[in-house]
Amino acid sequence: MPVFSMKDFDDHQQIVFCRDAASGLKAIIAIHNTVRGPALGGCRMWPYDTEEDALADALRLSRGMTYKSALAGLACGGGKAVIIGDPARDKSEALWLAYGRFVDTLGGRYVTAEDVGTRPADLEIVRRATRHVAGIAEGGAGDPSPATALGVFTGIQTCIAERLGRVRMKGLKVAVQGLGNVGYALAERLHEAGAALIVSDINEVAVKKAVRELGATAVPPEAIHAQHVDVFAPCALGAVVNDATIGEIRAPVIAGSANNQLAEPRHGRLLWKRNVLYAPDYAINAGGIIWVSHEAPKFDAEAATAHVLGIGDTLSEIFTRARKDGVAPEVAADRIAEDRFKARRDEAA
Ligand code: NAD
Repeated sequence: MPVFSMKDFDDHQQIVFCRDAASGLKAIIAIHNTVRGPALGGCRMWPYDTEEDALADALRLSRGMTYKSALAGLACGGGKAVIIGDPARDKSEALWLAYGRFVDTLGGRYVTAEDVGTRPADLEIVRRATRHVAGIAEGGAGDPSPATALGVFTGIQTCIAERLGRVRMKGLKVAVQGLGNVGYALAERLHEAGAALIVSDINEVAVKKAVRELGATAVPPEAIHAQHVDVFAPCALGAVVNDATIGEIRAPVIAGSANNQLAEPRHGRLLWKRNVLYAPDYAINAGGIIWVSHEAPKFDAEAATAHVLGIGDTLSEIFTRARKDGVAPEVAADRIAEDRFKARRDEAA
């Protein structure tokens, strides 16, 4: 299988293929860049159809982590691990210990964390084999979702000031798509601040709770993106801005936690041309990774919270750069991130 010539290969510094026959472990750890510090990124467990799919995912996700950490001002680089397997069937203590031993061989160049298919309980086992684990419930930062929600809330404040010239949240209309760990916590904050909520989720229990406790108006999942609101906050799925939805989006601001909100880069350019302010997802949803990054050597909730609140300033910087360069915000965000890890590389030279 070619590696250096793969589409998703972006001068990754190191790629480790891990096999432990006894436990059935097949994993790939991709370290994209450690210029700013150890490569931090979650471990995804997924029943990939092919090994190429698994490698491509590890390459793409680890690169994304370099950008995300640089933009969030973390002293971390970008890495990601993938385990080829079905999280519902293939997990075992032996598998996590074997994975942990491989992480440990990297001596801290890669710090692992939770991702799709992995749970804090899995990481507790991994930690028995290596100390290079972030996001542990006990003695650590714990669930990062409330911090992600706080970051999105702060980001929304910056976006409405930028696009609507508005400071007050009271009376702001926000459509929240997805009332999971992040979406519900965001909805609670918005409600407390006096915003009016329109919500959707495929989970009716969550919707009923939001209607009952937060006075939200429920709409069907297929209608949430098209609401007449000030802010559309996608907090569920990726690719919500796509060919089918983009013409129906009426909100002047899109700001939410979901990863990969743009189906393709061209959708970001289209939003920009239509004067819809899009908060680049990897900038506004960085609260969780910021939170977890404050875990070592001793978790400091106050410093972590202050850092999460800095997401507002990061977005301001992005919007300023976008205006200066005459580009869409997500293009400006990439440029700022690249400047940061390139600057460090130059300093090191
Ligand atoms: P979650 O699984 O707790 O919540 C997702 C919610 O979306 C669920 O309630 C689910 O029922 C709902 N949903 C699924 N399909 C839907 C649809 N078609 N319409 C409406 N609702 C739908 O996940 P989460 O941790 O809250 O994360 C939400 C998003 O934010 C994800 O894209 C995730 O990758 C991203 N994110 C999360 C964090 C974090 O700290 N948890 C950090 C960064 C990014």
